Amino acid sequence: MTTTLEFQPIRLPPAVQALRGEVRAFLHEEMSAGTFDPDFPTEDWDVCRKFARKVAARGWIGMCWPKAYGGQERSFLERYVVNEEMQAHHAPNTFYFTADRQSGPTLIKYASERIKAEVLPKIIAGEASFCIGMSEPDSGSDLFAAKCKAVRTDGGWKIQGTKIWTTNAHRADYMIGLFRTSPSLPENHRHGLTSFLVDMRASGIQCNPIRQMSGIHDFNEVVFDEVFVPEDQLIGEVDGAWKQATTELAYERSGPERFLETLTVLRALIDLDRAEPVPQVSESVGRLVAELHSLRRMSVSVAGMLEAGREPAVEAAIVKDLGTAWEQDLPQRVRLAVARASQGSAAYRRFEDILQYCTRIAPKLTVQGGANEVLRGIIARGLGLR
Ligand SMILES: Cc1cc2nc3c(=O)[nH]c(=O)nc-3n(C[C@H](O)[C@H](O)[C@H](O)COP(=O)(O)OP(=O)(O)OC[C@H]3O[C@@H](n4cnc5c(N)ncnc54)[C@H](O)[C@@H]3O)c2cc1C
Repeated sequence: MTTTLEFQPIRLPPAVQALRGEVRAFLHEEMSAGTFDPDFPTEDWDVCRKFARKVAARGWIGMCWPKAYGGQERSFLERYVVNEEMQAHHAPNTFYFTADRQSGPTLIKYASERIKAEVLPKIIAGEASFCIGMSEPDSGSDLFAAKCKAVRTDGGWKIQGTKIWTTNAHRADYMIGLFRTSPSLPENHRHGLTSFLVDMRASGIQCNPIRQMSGIHDFNEVVFDEVFVPEDQLIGEVDGAWKQATTELAYERSGPERFLETLTVLRALIDLDRAEPVPQVSESVGRLVAELHSLRRMSVSVAGMLEAGREPAVEAAIVKDLGTAWEQDLPQRVRLAVARASQGSAAYRRFEDILQYCTRIAPKLTVQGGANEVLRGIIARGLGLR
């Protein structure tokens, strides 16, 4: 199949720009109150939980969802600017982010009415956090080789096996996970997987921490030992989850979080250059900001397509590939640029701390949410090249 690539330029309407102003004012209030430091994202779950409630009170969680489920039916572009401001300021949005971005929309599309009525209002109130159970020790890129299984039992299913790299599994309330319910078929190796909503407090779940080289503990190995999941926590079609997983990944791959994770180091470079301008440093700043601007236009364009009800999987993969490669290279490029800057000031010492932090988180950026090599395969297929 050949897809025509389309990155139509989208102009954000005035109402959306006004919303950006509201979000910025809110974030500045929170930063002034000392809730968070935009240069160093916090790991403190309690801070993240309290922040989620404040964002919920503003109506910024589940803002595009149907009114019938407590949403406001606002546009993807409005959600985009809220998300963009949160990411650009490194706001502590971890508690609600996964639920708002992908778990909630998946439940709206595929969950039972009981689950929708029970769980969606909790997400919108900033009271329920989610993790994603896709990767396994022997199936990351090849998601459809998953072995962790769900077997029918009285009134539901029993889960047995292991997931890995599960971000926030140790503190999330729920997981939406992909489990093997039948063998794959010779004519369709993606057949045989089913999605379930798992209550992370259910008995038989053990989360083993995995620490990243940055010192952060946010992902885990999750071991399921005969974990019972009631029948109505089945999400969508038995054995047909691959169709749902593909849609979910389009939400996961295109947002501003895919190029803003190391933005602080560029901001720090700009601050240094503003204090003591050096022409070569200013030139680097100009180049980096122009690249960022192009990435952002592409990402906004994908948001516009989601708004129009399309599933821009190839365009989303391009944004993630280019965006994460850019944010991964950024600390190294900034380090080279700053070699020409004046290095004695207090501003420079803060800059160094930020650079160190961004350098340590950079390696993961092109792997989380699907490795870039695999995305390039999706892009090539979409362009009819393979
Ligand atoms: C910070 C972080 C957070 C994460 N959070 C989650 C989470 O919450 N939930 C979850 O389920 N997973 C999560 N993951 C896992 C992530 O989705 C996987 O790491 C990723 O899909 C790659 O899978 P893998 O690690 O098994 O590597 P592999 O699939 O073994 O890949 C190893 C290498 O081989 C290359 N490769 C593999 N297949 C191909 C191919 N077909 N063509 C070309 N090259 C290929 C890859 O690009 C990679 O370089 C997270 C990962 C990170 C780094």
